[in-house]
Amino acid sequence: MSSPTTPADPTLAADLAAAIQTVPDFPSPGVAFKDITPVLADPGLFQRTTIALAAPWRAAGITHVLAIESRGFLFGAPVAQQLGVPLVPVRKPGKLPRARVRETYALEYGTDALELHADAIGPGASVLIVDDVLATGGTAAAVVRLTERCGASVGGLAAVIELSFLPWRTALTGVRAETLVRY
Ligand code: AMP
Repeated sequence: MSSPTTPADPTLAADLAAAIQTVPDFPSPGVAFKDITPVLADPGLFQRTTIALAAPWRAAGITHVLAIESRGFLFGAPVAQQLGVPLVPVRKPGKLPRARVRETYALEYGTDALELHADAIGPGASVLIVDDVLATGGTAAAVVRLTERCGASVGGLAAVIELSFLPWRTALTGVRAETLVRY
């Protein structure tokens, strides 16, 4: 565990690492699941986490926060409020009621998809994508494609946790990413 980006709160990475539980073989054999619910259960730690997530982006020209269903909602909503920009939910298929764009992405077995309301972002928007964990990067890369299909650009990517032994960085080449805890 290390602290990539929290100079204003130097003990945050250690406090997060102490709170986050690693659950072996969940939801399937071989996966070391990072359970962030203890962070949500600690109001002070949760607040420090969302402050630190927003901090690198305060002067970055971000116009919208795109929060990825479902744990990305928990962190994306307070980040959008701190940055004073619209919150845009990126949802699993069948949840958004109006005209939408969809991107399909590969999982280890099969595919999944994410959707965005077609009028949520457009040319001139510079979005911050927010999720809890960066692993293979496939989910966030699908949101990058959704953003670009809407004519908007990706200002960056914020996540609580990065798994440095998985290839998220190569899946997101050229995207500025800021995280709080690295495993
Ligand atoms: P990926 O597309 O592989 O980068 O996976 C990112 C998504 O899957 C995020 O939305 C995470 O919530 C979830 N995820 C992937 N790996 C883990 C893990 N080890 N622990 C918890 N969540 C994970």
